[in-house]
Amino acid sequence: MHRRLIAPGALAASLLLAIPASAADFSPGAPGIGDPYYPASGNGGYDVSHYDLRLKYQPVTDLLEGTATINARTTQNLSRFNLDFGLKVSEVRVNGKKAKFAKTGDQELEITPAAGLAKGTPVTVVVRYAGKPSELKIDGYTAWHRTPDGGVAAQEPEGAVWWFPSNDHPLDKATYDVSVSVPDGTQAISNGVLQSQSSRLGWTRFNWRSNKPQASYLTTLAVGKFDITTDKTEGGLPVLNAYSKDLGDNAGAARASLERTTEVAEWLETVFGKYPFNALGGYVPNVKTSYALETQTRPFYSPSAFANGSNASIVVHELAHQWYGDSVSVHHWKDIWVNEGFARYSQWLWSEKEGEGTAQELADYVYAQRSADDPFWTVKPGDPGPDKQFHIAVYDRGALALQALRNEIGDDAFFAVLKGWPQQYKYGNAKVGDFVKYAERISGKPLADLFDTWLYQPSRPDAPAARDAGFARSAAVPAKPKSWKQIADTNDVHDHDHDHKHGHKH
Ligand SMILES: [Zn+2]
Repeated sequence: MHRRLIAPGALAASLLLAIPASAADFSPGAPGIGDPYYPASGNGGYDVSHYDLRLKYQPVTDLLEGTATINARTTQNLSRFNLDFGLKVSEVRVNGKKAKFAKTGDQELEITPAAGLAKGTPVTVVVRYAGKPSELKIDGYTAWHRTPDGGVAAQEPEGAVWWFPSNDHPLDKATYDVSVSVPDGTQAISNGVLQSQSSRLGWTRFNWRSNKPQASYLTTLAVGKFDITTDKTEGGLPVLNAYSKDLGDNAGAARASLERTTEVAEWLETVFGKYPFNALGGYVPNVKTSYALETQTRPFYSPSAFANGSNASIVVHELAHQWYGDSVSVHHWKDIWVNEGFARYSQWLWSEKEGEGTAQELADYVYAQRSADDPFWTVKPGDPGPDKQFHIAVYDRGALALQALRNEIGDDAFFAVLKGWPQQYKYGNAKVGDFVKYAERISGKPLADLFDTWLYQPSRPDAPAARDAGFARSAAVPAKPKSWKQIADTNDVHDHDHDHKHGHKH
């Protein structure tokens, strides 16, 4: 090779083009996708387009057996590559041929195909595996919720490694077919449309399809005994809600909340534009957690969310994420404000619509509740850090930022921004900075200072800035808006309980 380096430049270039790629041109894909908050999340060197998961789950033993078929395309010449996965693997095939594999670290499955994979070519990876998800501990923690009648996978920012191999980061979204076999009398719930179900020899198989790009953490599985309600929207979308038969006193309030899903989605369409996915619904398994999660097309709700009665506001929050978080996903996890600031603000807009307090009144109240020395103001919603990713400030201060924007650019431009953004980045990813630029473009106003003040300064914006933003117009403490308690009741549900990695809990 190196003798060619002394050839004249043009000749060298043509020779390099002519020779086939040698083994030296193939290198391992990165073990992480490059997220500064979560270096092990995702992988480099390929892009997944589709996951086909064929699973069997036995609730009595928690044994999950699976075959994952992954359609991807290489983005570099690969000598090997990683998937993120924690269960025990028995066989890996790449393009039909047996591949070598090894588990490295807590959640990396390192795969070496029989031959290097050229850049830009389609690759099919088949992974056979089995294990008990509840026994998989990463830093002493499991994201799998074992229930008396099954198990549930719904966690942020990572949950997939407990039940299927993936490129586990929102930057690599894909479509999904999830097929799950469970004992007769038990149901398996996942995302999208229930295409079919059939029973044979005591086992029932449920075939789910989510046909729009979906982040791995938004892919969910719940096995248990559920009461299921189905319906269709006026536009013809299937609606499916599932309630554990084991919700006790919370059962009525859970139904009184989730059965308003269609109504809430219809209202959200007036604010954010057309609903982006192929199905609607939600599910409430018999878990002991307290959070909710915007799992795509079918949010997960903990029973305790309904301990104080029905709560439409939490349905508003999780459905708002279908536009802000699911269709348009974070680029890196530091961009969490483009999910949570907007989901929280949508709760304020719902309150405004219901006549229970305007967004301005809620903003005034939040601002007045938090004195200048409250640590709340040290959290920067625009880059909160991994241990503060789901801090209440990302939600409440994040929503204050949007009220400040609304007051700065006026309702016409503000609502044009809210509706246009999910179209602009539909089924993709976006950064906080992309939103700032987008709002500047639509409103024709410079907004960098405003967003710096509300998203990036580790202190309470001072009174003049607040007054400029329309807050705290009077010296008096504002009255508590009627919707305050219902919205505050949803604060717990945003503690995704993932802080195990950082030794910190709220
Ligand atoms: Zn949220």
